Amino acid sequence: MAQNSAGLAVVTGASTGIGAVYADRLARRGHDLLLVARNRERLEANAAKIAAETGRKVEVLVADLANGADVAKLAERLATDPSVTLLVNNAGVSLTGTLLDTDPAAVEGLMALNIVAPTLLAGAAGKAFLARNAGTIVNISSVLALAPERFDGVYSGSKAHLLNLTLSLAETLKGTGVKVQAVLPGATRTEIWERSGKDVDALLPGRVMDAGDMVDAALLGLDRGEVVTIPPLADEGLFQAYTAARLALTPFLSERDVAPRYRKAA
Ligand code: NAP
Repeated sequence: MAQNSAGLAVVTGASTGIGAVYADRLARRGHDLLLVARNRERLEANAAKIAAETGRKVEVLVADLANGADVAKLAERLATDPSVTLLVNNAGVSLTGTLLDTDPAAVEGLMALNIVAPTLLAGAAGKAFLARNAGTIVNISSVLALAPERFDGVYSGSKAHLLNLTLSLAETLKGTGVKVQAVLPGATRTEIWERSGKDVDALLPGRVMDAGDMVDAALLGLDRGEVVTIPPLADEGLFQAYTAARLALTPFLSERDVAPRYRKAA
């Protein structure tokens, strides 16, 4: 017999990979689930397995989150269903090539799925959570948000967007009962590599994390109240120093006067 629910967790991209692991772990933590992705068969198989193993209620929603109408439908659910306590913005794709050798439709599709959808979903959930002064938004970013020189900038830029969005929302929601977390995985063993024509082992031998380990670390970071969690980063001080250096710039970034080095010689 399942214990009382920790509320409904909505997980996008829950048909496989990191999202499927989140679904499993969140159900074991007492959440009922709404699993979202395009592949109905996989969603239903995951839902049946999790429901049987945990006794939680698991619903599926077949949706293409690169499609505005499907995003709007899910946003409406987030805005109006008071049982929702957690949103995991996880669905994402990467490109097979770079901006210079990729079909514009694929670039546009990535931006719709990786940027537009999670932003609108976070907005809908954030507003509803704030009205109830409770709820959590997890945005699955990437370490590439911090490393734009690696791989293509369309993907890393989409992940930097989620990091910025999270940092900004965390500031806006400070002092409320609403939590926000950005998770920055490094290379993680999932289908995303194969889907974008890459062999993860050939690319980064010995540097690929198991999806279960990644999600367990991210959930520990969430429990600790971290706004940014980077599961592979052993030396936390490096990220703290990076953040301190970035914040040290802030007071000097807007001035009436042009910086002396850009002034024409008289
Ligand atoms: P994955 O195994 O390829 O899974 C991606 C998930 O997103 C699947 O459930 C897929 O399901 C869903 N999805 C793809 N297109 C969609 C669409 N148009 N509408 C709705 N759902 C869609 O990838 P993953 O590695 O688990 O990726 C999860 C997140 O982690 C992504 O945001 C990715 O950028 C991020 N990440 C991954 C890594 C890594 O190395 N794996 C590293 C850093 C960050 P359907 O095909 O059924 O729709």
